[in-house]
Amino acid sequence: MTVTPRRYGFEDADRCVQCALCLPHCPTYRLMHDESESPRGRLAMLAALDRDAAPLDASMRTALDHCLGCLACEAVCPAEVPYGKLYDRYHAVTRTGLREPVIRILVSLTRRPRVAQRLHRLVAALERLRILPYLRRLATGRLRRALHLLPDPYPKTRAPHGHFIPDIAPTDPVGRVSLLAGCVSSLWMPDAYQAALELLLAWGFTVDLPDQALCCGALAKHAGHPGVSRVVQAALLKQLPPTQPVLVLDSGCFAETRAAFRAAGSGVTPVYELTSFLDAFWPATGPGSLGQPERIALHIPCTQRTEVGDAQAAARLLGRIGNLTVQPIPDDYGCCGAAGSYLLREPLMSDALGADLVARLGSERPERIVTTNIGCRLRWQAELRRQGLHIPVEHPVETVLRVFHHR
Ligand code: SF4
Ligand code: SF4
Repeated sequence: MTVTPRRYGFEDADRCVQCALCLPHCPTYRLMHDESESPRGRLAMLAALDRDAAPLDASMRTALDHCLGCLACEAVCPAEVPYGKLYDRYHAVTRTGLREPVIRILVSLTRRPRVAQRLHRLVAALERLRILPYLRRLATGRLRRALHLLPDPYPKTRAPHGHFIPDIAPTDPVGRVSLLAGCVSSLWMPDAYQAALELLLAWGFTVDLPDQALCCGALAKHAGHPGVSRVVQAALLKQLPPTQPVLVLDSGCFAETRAAFRAAGSGVTPVYELTSFLDAFWPATGPGSLGQPERIALHIPCTQRTEVGDAQAAARLLGRIGNLTVQPIPDDYGCCGAAGSYLLREPLMSDALGADLVARLGSERPERIVTTNIGCRLRWQAELRRQGLHIPVEHPVETVLRVFHHR
């Protein structure tokens, strides 16, 4: 028997039994209704490439690059095809992310948090001097897109950092935790970190917030730079005490943070996604209530579903709040089109997915949209602005803090 040599290491693609159960769950297939834009179609392409049975031509590359890496297919696959592993392998082989200069810069900044912070201060100064809105209007091409994805108004501060002790009697502290300040989220949603810090202190936790915007490595890994990912993960581990529980505010940082501790052989460090943690530690004094009735739409990012594996965490947490109506955005409304660096790498698909999702909200205009992922938050904000809709987007912990402020 002759064994056909494999070219790229995509052998796991052969496990697909072509049952099509994943197709209705795939955002790109739902949008395009095209087999080549489905998990099954992409696995067939990877298997053909691996056997040298087909060249990686432009049409195949387009269909494979359009994949969001959301892993909705992996979650429902009866043959347990490890789609996420194949996705990362494809990007490591093709270095898709290298084609996009903005992504190259972002990946390089994950290794240089101090430079990232200086750049952040520069952009905040441009906002204060009212120059940023002009740049948004004057810029062209990919720079224009990147500037339009930035929060507007641009945050003037960054996430707090340091060692924080609760303002209660020393016999009462309930524990000490690290709150991970992610590289992008700590710069672009500092209010969520401030809210998490205030809440944890109010509940009696001692909190360590590292003074650098630390990257979990997800951005580099999914853009096809596993080497950079390993380097930044090593830097992350040096900043976090090895046995202290780590709370991850951004659901997009959870999987790689946990993987970093596991790879280092540190099986004793518990890593929690923040909304799951807050739900588990909700104080016995009972839930509070918002001052005014409010109706929010709860967006559940793919990272919360598939990587955290607790899709209902934010719904449980927010369900404790009086005067708050939580409407989860149904799965079949689709994907926001963020998916890490995808929103820069595949602008047309990202915009089409985001526009479709906002259009599906239709007349049920919520007063706020709540999500646990910074990429989704940026994508939501940009699309809402583009459609002239003034709906704030926040992290669930910001909603919870508003209850505590109302008390
Ligand atoms: S569900 Fe799994 S086995 Fe079925 S078509 Fe999709 S990837 Fe293949
Ligand atoms: S990872 Fe997401 S976008 Fe990619 S094939 Fe699977 S379901 Fe579709």
